[in-house]
Amino acid sequence: MGWTVRKQLLCPACGDVMAEAIHRRFPAMLTVLATAGYEVMPRRSGAVERDLLEGTLAGVPDEQTLRDMLLRYHADLIYELMCPRGHVTYRAAPAVVDALRDTPGTWVTL
Ligand SMILES: [Zn+2]
Repeated sequence: MGWTVRKQLLCPACGDVMAEAIHRRFPAMLTVLATAGYEVMPRRSGAVERDLLEGTLAGVPDEQTLRDMLLRYHADLIYELMCPRGHVTYRAAPAVVDALRDTPGTWVTL
């Protein structure tokens, strides 16, 4: 185990690769790269919540689950990830880090 892990994030709906996550423990840094190669920039929880309330959020799989998640991670950054089939997954940065840490191997289902 090194200080940096690189893992593939899998879509919870279909299992396709959505993104690659690079997590460095110290100094702490999380980078998420889309399959197309660009860096996915997370947004503040409040901004995602505002879009949800205004109905402008793309592809919300389960609104109540997303509301609960935004409440729980109200002070955190939220990643919006889309798999090649168009499924959208919202995850808070600490939840992504926990999944990377808790899942052995290089494939992580969010
Ligand atoms: Zn998918």
